[in-house]
Amino acid sequence: MERVGVVGLGIMGGGMAANLLRAGFEVTVWNRTPAKAAPLAEAGAEVAGSPAELAQRCGIVVVCVSDTPDVLEVVTGDRGILDGARPGQLVIDCSTIAPGTARHLAGELGGRGIGAVDAPVSGGSEGAANGTLSAMVGGSDEDVARARPVLDAFCASVTHVGPAGAGQATKLVNQILVVVTMLGVSEALVFAKAQGLDLDAVLAAVSGGAAGSWMLGNRGPQVIDRDWRPGFTIDLQQKDLRLVLEAADDVGAPVLGTALVHQLYRTLQRDGLGGEGNHALAKVIERLAGLEAGR
Ligand code: NAP
Repeated sequence: MERVGVVGLGIMGGGMAANLLRAGFEVTVWNRTPAKAAPLAEAGAEVAGSPAELAQRCGIVVVCVSDTPDVLEVVTGDRGILDGARPGQLVIDCSTIAPGTARHLAGELGGRGIGAVDAPVSGGSEGAANGTLSAMVGGSDEDVARARPVLDAFCASVTHVGPAGAGQATKLVNQILVVVTMLGVSEALVFAKAQGLDLDAVLAAVSGGAAGSWMLGNRGPQVIDRDWRPGFTIDLQQKDLRLVLEAADDVGAPVLGTALVHQLYRTLQRDGLGGEGNHALAKVIERLAGLEAGR
C-alpha cells in the first residue's frame, strides 16, 4: 500500500486520517495548528513539518481544509504540496471548494504529471468519525481508480460523477437540495403549528409519503425538540451557498431558492447563531409567523 498523507486535521480531515490508520494504511499528517496532530501521532501516524515535506514522503495526498483560498495555499503556496511533489503522485481534495478552482488545480497538477481528484464529501462529523461519508468524485478514470481504496477507508459511498471539477459541482447540487428542502420543512412545520396540529403526528403522517426526505426525517424532529445542535453549522453552510451563488452566476443558472435561504441565514448569523445547525432556518420562519414550531 502506498503511504497516504493527510493535510488538514479538522473535524473532517482528522476523522479521515484516523480511519486510514484503522484500515491499515501508513499515514503521514500535517496540520497548520500542530496540536491537532498529536492524537493521530499517538495512533501511529507520522507527522510532517510542512505540506511539502509530507508530499515528499507520500504517494497519495488527501487535502481537507476549509475553503478555496486555503486549498490553494496548502497546494501551491510556500512549502505547499507542489514544493515537495513529483510526477506520478496523486492529490485527492476532499474540501468543498469552487468547481472552477478544482478544474484549474487539476490542470496545473496534470501539467507536472501529478494526478488530481476532487472528492468533496457529505455525512458530517459523524460520517468522518465512523468512516461512513459519501464522496462525490471528479477526475479521470485512472486517477479515480487509484483514489478509490483511499476513499473507501473513510466513505460508505464513492460515486465517480465526471471529469475534474464535477465532484465539486455535484456537492453544490447537494447543498441546493439541502437548504431549499430545509426551507420547505420550516414553512411546513410553522404552518402545521399555526393550524393547531400535533407536530409529531404530522411528521409521522407525511414522512413516509412523497414529501418525505432526509432533512424532514432527521432535522424535523430536532426543530420540534428545539435542539439546535449542529450536524452542519450555518457558518459552513453559508460558505457553501456562496460557492453555489458564484458557480451559478458563472453558468447563468437561476438559483432563486438558494439565494433567498442565503439571505435568511445571514439574519441568523447577525444574531450570533452561525454556530447552530442549518435546521435553525426554522427560526426565521417562526419569527415571521410570531410562533414557535415546538411541542
Ligand atoms: P474544520 O474542523 O474547521 O477544519 C478546518 C481545517 O482546515 C483545519 O485543519 C485548519 O487548520 C485547516 N485550514 C484552514 N485554513 C487553512 C490554511 N489557510 N492553511 C492550512 N490549513 C488550513 O473544518 P471541517 O469541518 O473539517 O471542514 C473541512 C472541509 O470539509 C470544508 O471544506 C467543509 O466545507 C467540508 N465539509 C465539512 C463537513 C462538516 O460537517 N464539518 C461536512 C462536509 C464537508 P487549523 O487547525 O490550523 O485551523
